[in-house]
Amino acid sequence: MRKLLEGILDFRAKRAAGYELLFKQLAKRQNPDALFITCSDSRVVPNLLASTNPGDLFVMRNVGNAVPPCCAHSGHSQTDDSEIAALEYAVQFLRVKDIIVCGHSDCGAIQAICSQTGMDAAPHLKNWLDFNRLALEKFSTDLEFAKAWSAQDQISQKNVLLQLTHLMTYPLVKKAAAQNQIQLHGWWFDIEGVDVYAYNPDEKKFNIIDEAEAVKIRARLINS
Ligand SMILES: [Zn+2]
Repeated sequence: MRKLLEGILDFRAKRAAGYELLFKQLAKRQNPDALFITCSDSRVVPNLLASTNPGDLFVMRNVGNAVPPCCAHSGHSQTDDSEIAALEYAVQFLRVKDIIVCGHSDCGAIQAICSQTGMDAAPHLKNWLDFNRLALEKFSTDLEFAKAWSAQDQISQKNVLLQLTHLMTYPLVKKAAAQNQIQLHGWWFDIEGVDVYAYNPDEKKFNIIDEAEAVKIRARLINS
């Protein structure tokens, strides 16, 4: 907490001035380009990874960057409404053009799904992860791996693709995607390598977003 307080004071004293004009423009309205769905993990810092400014990303975080799928009968989330409330707001009100699901290496949620140890002491976490674990067990994909990731990291990458399929179970996403108003992307952050990977649907694997990969990603973009 001390570090946070010092950071606030530092921001107030030195940095806030540099952002004054930007925040003045943002004060009455936000117009983010993308909904960024990622894990609560402290090592994943979306604005740092993508060098984005305040106002650029609408961020939804939870343990394991999970999106509960839609129930075909009720039209509601199968578990929790929080994620879908953020989704509805981003798509219907903010009209974001892109939705990114970003997983990461050494993810504690994936580790807990794999090991199942100590989970009885955290019943809510267990419920949340059990749901995702069962979905992951049923989910098959022809994903290839760009390098010899650990089994846990391979599941983490698979988990990103699973969440993209969950997003598409929502009629509002399906409709917006069909009308080319929105595009879904799977990203994955390698903490040790400090590299962001993007799922390449043509090659069926996550590739580092370097200059060459960025050219391919730009070519696939439909909105910007
Ligand atoms: Zn995580």
